[in-house]
Amino acid sequence: VYLHHKSGHRLRVDVKIRPLYIDGEIVGATEVFSSAVMSDCSEINMKEMERLALFDQLTQLPNRRYIDTFLENQIRDYQSLGIPFGVMMLDLDFFKRVNDTYGHNVGDMVLKMVAGTFQGAMRKNDFIGRWGGEEFVAILRGVTHLELRMIAEKVCRLVAQSSLTRGADCLRVTVSIGSTMVQPTDNPFTLIQRADKALYTSKHEGRNRVTVL
Ligand code: GH3
Ligand code: MG
Ligand code: MG
Repeated sequence: VYLHHKSGHRLRVDVKIRPLYIDGEIVGATEVFSSAVMSDCSEINMKEMERLALFDQLTQLPNRRYIDTFLENQIRDYQSLGIPFGVMMLDLDFFKRVNDTYGHNVGDMVLKMVAGTFQGAMRKNDFIGRWGGEEFVAILRGVTHLELRMIAEKVCRLVAQSSLTRGADCLRVTVSIGSTMVQPTDNPFTLIQRADKALYTSKHEGRNRVTVL
């Protein structure tokens, strides 16, 4: 396209549009506008845009937008194909204390460490994203109620066993988990609400534990 420059002339701008995919489905698009002199960079920009749109910058995990779409797709597949799945809501325990004691930067390092532990604990096709702040959501396709509990307990244990060394200090955090299986009448809201309720029970009963509803 040729856009009107403020000094009067027409400026050539290259526009590249690419579909954004989640789980093989188009969920949106990224558009990159670059002036003709910069067009060499536009390929890099596209990839970066796609990453910014769907992934969290700190942990590199899928972001809230990604989780929302992924969850809707799973519910649709469950309703049409009968593929069951479980959801986990994970919230770090007393995370405010980590920030208050060691500062926000160290808090960020702990979030990255925990995200790494989560990814290592999951099976190949399991999904985990950052819901926001120190909260994460996992979606486990094809699990049974028992498997969901076992995976949640494994994640909980592995986080408690992870640590970050800061000089003489060895920094540890724990996580509380609420999990639940999808039900025939669920929508994303009711499903997350039930996982959240289970999480609340884990917090209430002392943290560093799993509740399955
Ligand atoms: P609880 O066990 O009840 O969950 O206690 P908590 O301290 O974890 O809960 P609270 O919701 O009071 O505090 C969450 C803290 O997480 C507060 C906020 O500063 C911190 N936090 C959220 N996002 C980030 C982030 O991106 N980086 C860092 N360093 N801290 C964050
Ligand atoms: Mg929280
Ligand atoms: Mg917390």
